[in-house]
Amino acid sequence: MIPFLELKSTYLELKTEIDAAIATVMESGYYILGPQVEAFEAEFAASHDVQYCVGLSNGLDALHLGLLALGVGPGDEVIVPSNTYIATWLAVTYTGATPVPVEPVEATYNIDPARLEAAITPRTKAILPVHLYGQAADMDPIMEIARRYSLKVLEDAAQAQGTRYKGRYTGGLGDIAAWSFYPGKNLGAYGDAGAITTNDPVLADKVRVLRNYGSRIKYVNETVGYNTRLDELQAAILRVKLTKLEEWNDRRRKIAALYLENLQGLGLVLPQVPEGHEPAWHLFVIRHPQRDDLQKYLGQAGVGTLIHYPMPPHMQEAYAGLNIKASSLPISEEIHREVLSLPMFPHLTEEQVHQVIAAIRRYSQEQPNR
Ligand SMILES: *Cc1c(COP(=O)(O)O)cnc(C)c1O
Repeated sequence: MIPFLELKSTYLELKTEIDAAIATVMESGYYILGPQVEAFEAEFAASHDVQYCVGLSNGLDALHLGLLALGVGPGDEVIVPSNTYIATWLAVTYTGATPVPVEPVEATYNIDPARLEAAITPRTKAILPVHLYGQAADMDPIMEIARRYSLKVLEDAAQAQGTRYKGRYTGGLGDIAAWSFYPGKNLGAYGDAGAITTNDPVLADKVRVLRNYGSRIKYVNETVGYNTRLDELQAAILRVKLTKLEEWNDRRRKIAALYLENLQGLGLVLPQVPEGHEPAWHLFVIRHPQRDDLQKYLGQAGVGTLIHYPMPPHMQEAYAGLNIKASSLPISEEIHREVLSLPMFPHLTEEQVHQVIAAIRRYSQEQPNR
């Protein structure tokens, strides 16, 4: 069996360091907003060439607080990708604003800058591009349009730890960025965790206050805040795992290169990497017109796969109230019918990668008879 994702190896590789980090926190007597969170914030910001990082409890809260810091609220519109994980949309809804979906570029699955202007109205407050699957959205044209229309930009960088765009890391390309350290992300905690990063000290300060009950000084509350803090244990674990991020992303890049080299000519649509993009390969997503059949075949051959995502947000019952017509976002709907994510994690061995490739080759040879 080749699992789609296997996380225990990340712990086993770093067991000595992680166990020591956990013991340090346990013995310190400090469990919320202490030295580990502060150190992780500084180290994560430095690793992505951005000035400020504020540790939070998960990626969804990071998106929510990021939008609040930008001043997004009831009556506003926020432009979001039509194909993303629903968290991107939920954060907009939490603020009282309305998510306005824009279709992706088919080749990259990321929001299409050429379609942005048509979606801008007098109510538009912000654009929320997602670096989907670990490849950066095309930020230069997005920022150019945002500046021209005086819109704010929040990057959803949940899948993009270590992703580079034209030589720069994601996380400092817009006004503010939201990160998730959910266990399966490229940098993952062993529980829920998240953060924002920004180069703007005012935005960082706003999030810092919002995450802690709207309070700067204990029992003095200047705004109606939240409890969305990163905890000391997860911060200590993340500090250890951050030291491996580049090495583990390189490993993902090697796996992606093997897939790309050996899956040509089999009737699949393979991921495309435009000039200047250096994806962190959070996911390796292929497309196939008989996706469900291929997934079933691979499952029987012992290869675990997942679909990111089976249903776009506008087709979820949660968003029935937006009355977005089925078929009004055809690119996104087609993508959702055809995408399949192959096994991708740093501890996947070269032999396992070749087994996945062999299974897909067998499928494409047998397919005319199926
Ligand atoms: C994982 C993810 C989130 C949410 O992160 P959580 O930590 O699970 O709340 C948001 N957006 C995208 C694109 C994600 O992949």
